[in-house]
Amino acid sequence: MRAMFAALEGRRFDLLVVGGGITGAGIARDAAMRGLSVAIVDKGDWGSGTSSRSSRLVHGGIRYLEHGEIALVRESVRERAVLMRIAPHLVKPLEFTWPVYRGARLPRWKLRAGLALYDVLAGSRGSRKHHGLDIEGIVEHEPMLRRDGLVGGATYHDAATDDVRLTLANVLSAVEHGAVAVNYARVVSATSSGRRVDGAVVRDGLGDGEVRVSARVTVSATGPWQAKGTKGVHITVPAERVGNRGAVTMVNPVDGRVMFVLPSGMQTIVGTTDTFTDAVPDEVRASEADVEYLLAAANSYFPDAMLVEEDVIAAWAGIRPLAAAASGADPSEISREHRIAEDAPGVITVSGGKLTTYRSMAAEVVDEAVKLLGSGKVGGVAGGASELTGVFTTEEPLPGEDRRQRVGGMAKSDPVLRRGLVYGLPYTLGDVEFAVRHEMSVTVGDVLVRRTHIAFETRDHGIGVAGAVAGFIAPILGWSEIEETAHVELYAAEVRRIFAIDAASA
Ligand SMILES: Cc1cc2nc3c(=O)[nH]c(=O)nc-3n(C[C@H](O)[C@H](O)[C@H](O)COP(=O)(O)OP(=O)(O)OC[C@H]3O[C@@H](n4cnc5c(N)ncnc54)[C@H](O)[C@@H]3O)c2cc1C
Repeated sequence: MRAMFAALEGRRFDLLVVGGGITGAGIARDAAMRGLSVAIVDKGDWGSGTSSRSSRLVHGGIRYLEHGEIALVRESVRERAVLMRIAPHLVKPLEFTWPVYRGARLPRWKLRAGLALYDVLAGSRGSRKHHGLDIEGIVEHEPMLRRDGLVGGATYHDAATDDVRLTLANVLSAVEHGAVAVNYARVVSATSSGRRVDGAVVRDGLGDGEVRVSARVTVSATGPWQAKGTKGVHITVPAERVGNRGAVTMVNPVDGRVMFVLPSGMQTIVGTTDTFTDAVPDEVRASEADVEYLLAAANSYFPDAMLVEEDVIAAWAGIRPLAAAASGADPSEISREHRIAEDAPGVITVSGGKLTTYRSMAAEVVDEAVKLLGSGKVGGVAGGASELTGVFTTEEPLPGEDRRQRVGGMAKSDPVLRRGLVYGLPYTLGDVEFAVRHEMSVTVGDVLVRRTHIAFETRDHGIGVAGAVAGFIAPILGWSEIEETAHVELYAAEVRRIFAIDAASA
């Protein structure tokens, strides 16, 4: 049995967090920082669910202003400022250009008014203020944009992140504060004493062990596995074909939805769609119709790109866990607010939310958990649980800022680690070794999909280097030859599961 897996047994945790996406990871960190004893498990890798399929933005969500969701935007811009401060290595300012065309659903005056409100809500902590631009100004920023019908626009600022690394940083920080965190550990059933849930049975996804985890409170943070949601698809295409210089906000000419073109090294990401789906979260993929929709939007704004399906490097989908997925409503109009409830005695369920607001959502959940823990001695705090509510502990820096230096340091003593993995991409064997030794990677997919973005940035999604990566990590993780082969096959299956494009619209 894996050592961490065994550490789940034989003690009673204050809190068991089920689900290691951004929501669960944020909760585990917050609770551990308040002194609670915490276990967090995920049935796959950290962030392997929706938290690796986002638009990778920490944003106020300018479009939510249209729906009057002022409170959500205010909270989001505040969190954007905090995250840029506590994780500057993961949350970086990003300038957006928003071109406006004649007859657009959002005319120039409305855009300017919205952006002015956006700036006001961000207040003095906000990033740089927006700027209105005339036609020449827009063309100067983004020369490859369609000129026909262009009437001007604006630039504004939000932030870009790495969704999985943000999730991982929270897990690693939780561990630094004493949490036991195990990936590939699936909750298969809840346990109870009387009517009250008192833990769960957890199965090792990489072996055949099973343990009973005892916990006073269980938090279910399994995102789309517990709540309905809408599907969102992104594609990557070569940046040189699109010719965008930075991030561009588009209003889809067909249905009026707000979409983005986002810079990502040599590539451009186009996203996203927003449609109801019955797909199970483990099997959600882009369809040909999704890809066509995204290509059409990009081609309409960047006509010289003339993108076709063959230009698509990768396409992937995620399910937005929505607190209230009212069928019949326009998917884009469903609120991104969250819902926290004690759905069964001893179990708190949290659903909805955004990557951006994970920290404040986590604080609310931990406040609820502390109330349920009651007056007994909690996490070594003699005064009891009440002293632990309403405490915002997570404004300390997130770990990982020194990762580049640490990888560089390792490569100094072992030059093999300087070897690149894929021509033209910046990842090295040092990144692989670091991912396994210090970032809880235990499969080839952890390395190629989530610690690096090789799977998103290559046409074969890293299949060509999977064997070499498996061979490199086998001795570190003690894999036999048979296990090494099995891990390469497991990776091929994971790639099909995430990146295959479904023929029928799904
Ligand atoms: C297309 C798209 C774009 C988005 N863009 C943005 C954006 O730019 N900015 C933003 O702020 N938000 C964005 N969001 C929203 C954001 O990504 C999600 O709100 C967030 O990632 C949800 O995280 P989560 O932890 O709740 O769910 P998930 O990340 O899905 O995590 C749930 C976890 O539970 C685990 N799990 C399930 N069942 C079990 C079990 N039985 N035992 C153990 N573990 C289990 C899963 O493996 C999974 O890892 C976007 C969403 C989508 C779909």
